[in-house]
Amino acid sequence: LMQLFRPLDMLGWVYRSIRQGLIDMEAMFDLLDTPAEVVDRPGAPPLVVSRGAVRFDDVRFGYEDGREILKGVDLDIPAGTSCAIVGPSGAGKSTIARLLYRFYDPTAGRITIDGQDIAEVQQASLRAAIGIVPQDTVLFNDTIGYNIAYGRADATQEDVEEAARGAAIDRFIAILPDGYDAMVGERGLKLSGGEKQRVAIARTLIKNPPLLILDEATSALDSRTEQAIQETLARISQSRTSIIIAHRLSTVVDADRIVVLDEGRVAEQGTHEELLARGGLYAELWQRQAAERLAEAVAEAAE
Ligand code: ATP
Repeated sequence: LMQLFRPLDMLGWVYRSIRQGLIDMEAMFDLLDTPAEVVDRPGAPPLVVSRGAVRFDDVRFGYEDGREILKGVDLDIPAGTSCAIVGPSGAGKSTIARLLYRFYDPTAGRITIDGQDIAEVQQASLRAAIGIVPQDTVLFNDTIGYNIAYGRADATQEDVEEAARGAAIDRFIAILPDGYDAMVGERGLKLSGGEKQRVAIARTLIKNPPLLILDEATSALDSRTEQAIQETLARISQSRTSIIIAHRLSTVVDADRIVVLDEGRVAEQGTHEELLARGGLYAELWQRQAAERLAEAVAEAAE
C-alpha cells in the first residue's frame, strides 16, 4: 500500500515546488502577471540617471490588437517632483507604471528618462533605477530580514534595520520572537496588508532608487494605518521623482501635479486646488469619493 502512495507523495512535492517557484516569480515581477516580454537591443547602453526627469511623448499602447488602452499619453514629470495619476477604474493608470518599468514597449510614441529612450537602454539598468511599491506585495517564504534585503544584493544587517526603521516596521519586528529571522509568507507568519506594504517600502529604501513608482493598494486599509503609510511614503518620495498610481484621491492632495487619466488619455492636470476649481472630472471624482469617505468614517466610528 505504501508503494501506492509514494507517487502521490512525490506529486505533492512537485506541486509544492512548482507553486513555490510561481510565487517567487510573481514576487520578482512586482507588477504582477506580466511576463518579461521585451528584450534588450544588442549593444544597448545602460541608462544613466542624472536627475530623474520622466517624459511620455504621445505614448500609445494596447495589450491586445484592436483594443488600445493608452491613446496618446503625454506626461512631463520634472526631476525630483511627484506626479499622481488618477482616474476611473480601467483608465490605464497601472498600465503607465508597467510601461515605465518596461514590462511592455509602447506601440507608438516614446518614454524617456533624462532624455534617454527607455526602449533603447539595458533593461537591468532601467529596473535598477526604479523602485516599486506595488499594490499587493508578494512575500518570499523566507525570513522578514531576507524579504527586506531582497532590494539590494549586498545589503548588510545594519542596512536592513535602517530600512525597517525608515518604513516604520522596526518596532513590529522587534517584538517577534525570532526578530529579523522570523519566517513570513505562506508557510510562516501572515502579515496584514499594511505590514506587507511596509516590507515593500523597506525593500525600496534599501534599493535607494532615484525613481519611485507607488502603486497604491486598492484594498482599503483602516484609516489610521493608511495615514501612517502615507506619511512614510511622503517621506521616502522626497527628493526622488515619484509617480503615484492612486486609486483613492485622498492620498494625492499633496502631489506636485495630478494627472487625470480618462479612457487612455490625459483629461486634465494640475494641482489639487487647480483641478477642484476647474470643476471637471477630478472635481466630480473628488466629490464622489468624499461622500464615500464620510460613510466609511461613520461606519468606523460606529464599530
Ligand atoms: P484600476 O484603478 O481599476 O486599477 P487602472 O486605471 O490601473 O485601473 P489598468 O490596470 O491600467 O487600469 O488597465 C487598463 C485596461 O487594460 C483595463 O481595461 C484592463 O482590463 C486592461 N488590461 C490590464 N492588464 C491587462 C493584460 N495583462 N491583458 C489584457 N488587458 C489588460
